[in-house]
Amino acid sequence: MKGQVADTTLTGPVHALDVPAVADSVGADPAIGLSRAEAARRLVADGPNELASTPPKTWAQRLLEQFASPLVLLLLAAIVVSLIAWWLEDASEVPFDAVAIATIVAVNAGIGALHERRAEKAVAALQEMAAAQAGVIRDGHYERIPARDVVVGDVIVLDEGDAVPADARITESRALAVSEASLTGESTAVRKTTSAVEEDTPLAERTSMVFAGTAAVAGHGRALVTATGMGTEVGTIATLLESTERQPTPLEREIAAVGRLLGMAVLAIAAVVVGAIVVVSDIDSAGDVVEVLLIGVSLAVAAVPEGLPAVLSIVLALGVQRMAGRNALVRRLSSAETLGSATVICTDKTGTLTRGEMTVRELLVNDQRVDVTGTGYGPEGELRVDGVRANGEVLALVRGALAAGALASNASVRLEGDRWVAVGDPTEAAIVAAAAKAGVTRHSMAALHRLDELPFTAERRRMSVLVAPTEPVTDEPMVFTKGAPEVVLDRCTHEQTTEGPGVLSADRRDWWREGVDDMAGRAMRTLAVAGRAHPATRLDDESEVGLVLYAVIGIIDPPRDEAAPAVADAQGAGIRVIMITGDHPATARQIAADLGIGDPDAQPVVGRSLEDLDQDALAGVAATTSVFARVAPTHKLQLVEALQARDEVVAMTGDGVNDAPALKAADIGTAMGIAGTDVAREAADLVLTDDNFATIVAAVSEGRGIFHNIRSFLRYLLSSNVGEVMTMFFGVVLAGVIGLTAEGEAVIAPLTAAQILWINLLTDTGPALALGVDPVHPGVLRQPPRHRGERVIDAAMQRGIALVGFTMAVVTLLMFDAKNPGGLIDGTSDVDTARTAAFTVLVLAQLFNCLNARSDDASAFHRWAVNPWLLLAIAASFGLQVLVVYLPALNEAFGTAPLSLADWLWSTVLASAVLWVSEARKLVARRRRQLGTSDPGPDPGGRGS
Ligand code: ATP
Repeated sequence: MKGQVADTTLTGPVHALDVPAVADSVGADPAIGLSRAEAARRLVADGPNELASTPPKTWAQRLLEQFASPLVLLLLAAIVVSLIAWWLEDASEVPFDAVAIATIVAVNAGIGALHERRAEKAVAALQEMAAAQAGVIRDGHYERIPARDVVVGDVIVLDEGDAVPADARITESRALAVSEASLTGESTAVRKTTSAVEEDTPLAERTSMVFAGTAAVAGHGRALVTATGMGTEVGTIATLLESTERQPTPLEREIAAVGRLLGMAVLAIAAVVVGAIVVVSDIDSAGDVVEVLLIGVSLAVAAVPEGLPAVLSIVLALGVQRMAGRNALVRRLSSAETLGSATVICTDKTGTLTRGEMTVRELLVNDQRVDVTGTGYGPEGELRVDGVRANGEVLALVRGALAAGALASNASVRLEGDRWVAVGDPTEAAIVAAAAKAGVTRHSMAALHRLDELPFTAERRRMSVLVAPTEPVTDEPMVFTKGAPEVVLDRCTHEQTTEGPGVLSADRRDWWREGVDDMAGRAMRTLAVAGRAHPATRLDDESEVGLVLYAVIGIIDPPRDEAAPAVADAQGAGIRVIMITGDHPATARQIAADLGIGDPDAQPVVGRSLEDLDQDALAGVAATTSVFARVAPTHKLQLVEALQARDEVVAMTGDGVNDAPALKAADIGTAMGIAGTDVAREAADLVLTDDNFATIVAAVSEGRGIFHNIRSFLRYLLSSNVGEVMTMFFGVVLAGVIGLTAEGEAVIAPLTAAQILWINLLTDTGPALALGVDPVHPGVLRQPPRHRGERVIDAAMQRGIALVGFTMAVVTLLMFDAKNPGGLIDGTSDVDTARTAAFTVLVLAQLFNCLNARSDDASAFHRWAVNPWLLLAIAASFGLQVLVVYLPALNEAFGTAPLSLADWLWSTVLASAVLWVSEARKLVARRRRQLGTSDPGPDPGGRGS
């Protein structure tokens, strides 16, 4: 069995036990956790912490599924009938035809199964990358491990936004609240405590426990794992996880529909062709009937693009892997398609457009401005007033303010190698680093310990702690609050001065506000720090009022170097960039101006002002505003909906628990891989492993590339199929005209059944796949986004396919006529040679068509050599064709005969017509567009007119 339950049979259910008893039963110390060795041993013994899923398909199953298509079954039946006929007539020779067809069908099935396996593996690899992580204490140290490695006895650490990896008994809770809606249906978060509950307490009220599959939404806590995998509460509900069965994406569905439609048309045409053969041929034996039947079925099998779904999912999966290589993890294949059609990107500022490396640059205390030097999170740097090192009373005020700020923080700084790094929230780490510069260190604050915390949330925009002296002396507990200045200022009645707290007059309030605006106008992130004595053991809503303002802190967070070019790229690609930030409007405006987002003269719209707007007004604001400041997560949802109402395809970034609804509602919910919470990641379609805005733009470009490639191989496969069908159709209908007579042959057809299937084998595999991995054209970002619901196979593409198919048929039949005696051009070869030459023309035409199919209107010679796979596939197909023409065994099997060099040259020249005809059509299309609209350059998306 996967997972394990703590052995509590003797002592009762874990929720009713106190912590030491639970620790005893799971054999772990809540303070230092398990040792790594013991955890590894338990993992082997108990199995991974995951829910059992349906076992993967075996090779045999996969292979068998390939034969499930009715057409293939029909073909198999035809082969069996042909074998019987052969046996009845004279079983002297090898039944080459039947063997060749059976071999091709088997090889095709093998390749189909291989393709499917490959697509599944790629998807599985992506899931692995996006797999959940868990924070645990092992050997006394915090570490992050894959959630599947969590074992009974592990101490898990939970912070706001963390997914709970296993069932666990709470050992420590600082305002820890957990959303258990997924398990119990209860929508409000449940506060967790360490106290045991009654044995018969229902699941939803077991406040001493956390359960796998739920998520921490506020506070912090630790818990001792008591059950993993199928042993958890969710494991007992879920018998088997069926979700491994992937739903087809919209594109896959559309293409399946196209395939079906085409299949039906082809079947009808195949029936007509068979009918025509019967009419013009001289059928007088069972063998002839079987041959006609085989041609009909082979034509149907070859022309119905059965390989398409597998190739499509491989192309999607490979594209998604390429995106992963560029730090964009796509969690659903369908999002890879949607990405390409994004019309608006709504992005956070902090850490996404900016580096997220915060440094305190300025402080306002009393009525002084204090500058802070030094960069990064190190303690090197000075505090200066008017260029002179701060000292005396000012220094004391700064120290007090920064100590309060550091105490009201959960982050710390750590020396890694020779670099100081932030551990936890960068804003808080910046304050801790500045405090160190002022001589306030963790050591010097050790005399105080924290009694309670009101956590920071994007809605509250502030955080408070209650601290008390470790040794109960005369000092009272203090509340320290830090947060957005306007929020904190509203809660202050006094300000700290060199003479102690003084009343905060209206004038002084204005002075502070102006100071904040000034800092924000210089792109700084601003925070106010305040506090007061608070003789209590807990914090409540009343604790954050009547505060004394200590200081306003200005933090710089420089824009990422790649942000401005990425914004320009997005805008060039017809995508609007909207910045949505929790920061001050002036900070937002300055950073937006630096990055080229929106109109630099326009005022940012403040989140709260959205609340009073009706639908229409909101849609209007969403249409014209590019910078939103002081935004809470609920506003994000409003904005997504307003934009979607305007038919925009919206990408929206987020990291917090409360961003999840907006991420879910957005067309492309985008979560931060580093700074984001598990909850946000799980709600998202796309996870940025580097939290970088430029990665979104890169992913959009890849998404467009994927769509472009899908169109390329569709164009290729469909025109190949149309070419084959038309060749057979006209070949039979015009048999008399091209000199295809019944002399020496009972059944009249330009190609044999085996030849048709051979073409299918060549085209469906190498070249189609190679087209699917064409490198993304740099021009994809110079195109406007694809419209929502735009057809994959549009009118221009249909025309192109029809033209190419027709050309293929004409040149193939021309070659046949030229080689064959009689007809329009009198040839001298026998019918086998004529057929081989025609067959070769058709195969070569497919290979020329590969180059052609890469765009509807860009020349085939444009970047013709950028895809080595394509060139390799063409060369390999050509090699195989040479074999089929010269190898005696294959000659027998495919009814071919060796060709002369002149035949090859003529075949090549004739086949290349596909290319020239298409080039001419593309030239006309480009001219027309140039005349019609201003030219946006070659159309890499292949959208044509
Ligand atoms: P975005 O990432 O969307 O650009 P943001 O991260 O800048 O937004 P928030 O994190 O919501 O926005 O911060 C909003 C404001 O809250 C900040 O300007 C700052 O004043 C304050 N703030 C940010 N972090 C903290 C914190 N850890 N404690 C207290 N206040 C904070």
